[in-house]
Amino acid sequence: MRILVVEDEHKIANALRQGLEQHAYSVDVAYDGDDGLAMATTEPYDLIILDRMLPGKIDGMGILRQIRTENIHTPVLLLTAKDRVLDRAEGLNTGADDYLVKPFAFVELIARVRALLRRPQQSLHTTLSYADLTLDPANFAVERAGKPIELTSKEFALLEYLMRHPDRIVAKDMIMQHVWDYDSDILPNTVEVYIGYLRNKIDKPFKGPNLINTKRGFGYRFGNKT
Ligand code: CA
Repeated sequence: MRILVVEDEHKIANALRQGLEQHAYSVDVAYDGDDGLAMATTEPYDLIILDRMLPGKIDGMGILRQIRTENIHTPVLLLTAKDRVLDRAEGLNTGADDYLVKPFAFVELIARVRALLRRPQQSLHTTLSYADLTLDPANFAVERAGKPIELTSKEFALLEYLMRHPDRIVAKDMIMQHVWDYDSDILPNTVEVYIGYLRNKIDKPFKGPNLINTKRGFGYRFGNKT
C-alpha cells in the first residue's frame, strides 16, 4: 500500500514516514501544497494523509477540492490543527474521508489509516458528473439537463473514459488503448466516428456548452473549463 503524506512540519512528516514504514507501508512525503497536489494527481496512491494548513499556492483544502474535481477518489485523511465543528464539516463536505485533530497519538493515526484502507474502493461505481451531464457506471445511465440519453456500450465506454479525464487533452491513442480491445478491428478514423456519435447525443441536442472538443493534431478535450 502506497501512502502520500502532505505535511510541511518536517518533524511530524518524518515521524509519520518512519512510523508508517515500520507498518510496511511505502511512503512519499510532500512538504508543501504545490508538490502535494502534483504528486496526488500523478501518482497512484492508496491513501493520502493531508495537512490542512500548508505553505505554497494551495493549501490542504485546495488540494482536496482539486483531486475530487479530477475524479480521484483516493481516501483522504485530513490533519487539522483546529478543533472546530465548522472545520470538520468543511473537510468532510469537501471530500475528506476522515480527519484527525493535532496533536494526535500515532496509534490513533494508524487505526484510522487501517480503517480507511479496508474500505472498498467506491471509485469505479461512483456517479460521474460534469456541468449538467451525469454518468452512472453502476446502472449504465447517462443524463444531461435531467434528460436520459441512450448510448451504445461503446459510446458509453468512450464517454466514461473522457469524463474520468476532464479538462485535459486526451490523445487519440490513449482513447484507443483504453476504450477498444487490442484485438478489435479499429480503423484510423474509428475514434472520430464514435466521437461524432457522442456529440450528436450529448452536445448537439442541448443548450449548454459543448463538452466534447477537438484539439486538432492532439486529440480531444472533455469539458468547458479552461
Ligand atoms: Ca501545516
